[in-house]
Amino acid sequence: MKTLLYPAYERLEVTEVPDPQAGQGELLLRVSACGICGSELEAFRHRSPRRVPPLILGHEFCGEVVDTGRGAHNFKIGQRVVSHSVVGCGQCVRCRRGDVNLCARRQIFGMQRQGAFAELVTAPESCVVPWPDHLAAEAASLTEVLANGVHVANLVKRLDPRKVVVIGAGPIGLMAQQAVQALTGADVTVSDLIPERLEAATKLGAKHVINSKEENFQQAMLDWTDGEGADVVVDAVGSPATKQQSLPATRPGGATVWIGSHGNTVTLDTYDITLSERCVQGSYAATMAELQQSVDLLAAGKIDGLSWIKAFPLGEGVTAFNRMLAAEGDDIKGVLCP
Ligand SMILES: [Zn+2]
Ligand SMILES: [Zn+2]
Repeated sequence: MKTLLYPAYERLEVTEVPDPQAGQGELLLRVSACGICGSELEAFRHRSPRRVPPLILGHEFCGEVVDTGRGAHNFKIGQRVVSHSVVGCGQCVRCRRGDVNLCARRQIFGMQRQGAFAELVTAPESCVVPWPDHLAAEAASLTEVLANGVHVANLVKRLDPRKVVVIGAGPIGLMAQQAVQALTGADVTVSDLIPERLEAATKLGAKHVINSKEENFQQAMLDWTDGEGADVVVDAVGSPATKQQSLPATRPGGATVWIGSHGNTVTLDTYDITLSERCVQGSYAATMAELQQSVDLLAAGKIDGLSWIKAFPLGEGVTAFNRMLAAEGDDIKGVLCP
């Protein structure tokens, strides 16, 4: 099969590799579309030890069942499915609770198992859901990205947020914005440094945008919330600077959600947590129920997954990666279609 292979650090090539085979409980899928994730661009750029080549990357995908392994009975050949990025062990207390995203033995496509930048990929049938007929492949491939946003919205629903800020208008930020709008009804402000991304956020329903290159983020936040701070601030960048920004922008008693993973170590003013009872909430991937919730939202047309992506044939995978790495203008997200 043809694949976009990550053969060694700082290299990508379109090449042929042997077809994979569906193992016990697995489906063999012909990939229809697979999104390029920011985490993969990061891994490529910084030689991440979490993604060690040689590897086939790609964990945001949908495809058609072309074979079923032993013990896989829930899907038929020809059926179309959307996959989760996370494969839980299925045995542990977290998996049994439904939190496959927190499984200590979880596998991620394009990390511990081969990913979907390829014509074929195998996936356990426990980690896929049906792909509705009228949903375009490119949009269906964004289900996993949306599920990240749905997870954020579900984590903060208990606060009944009215004003939410999303820092970073990349794919995760734009999906978190849309999920929060759709599931909580809160007004959302989005901040970023790139005007084209802020335009996308506005088109997707943001009530207000902040260009933090030109405006003082903290001041703009206080102005928007009458000096109070937002009920929820979602840091979809995760750099030390945005983690520091996100806390004081949250109202006392509110929640700061860290989903971005652009940086790890940071110095914080912890009194912003203690003295104001802010809650810092981590968010990682999503549950299977949230994957289903996401595909339903996309199929119902409540989330726009198409207007801000760019599709490329698999053969142009290297070009697509390079465009996303340059991250200029309105190239917000690339999707590879084998
Ligand atoms: Zn991803
Ligand atoms: Zn588990």
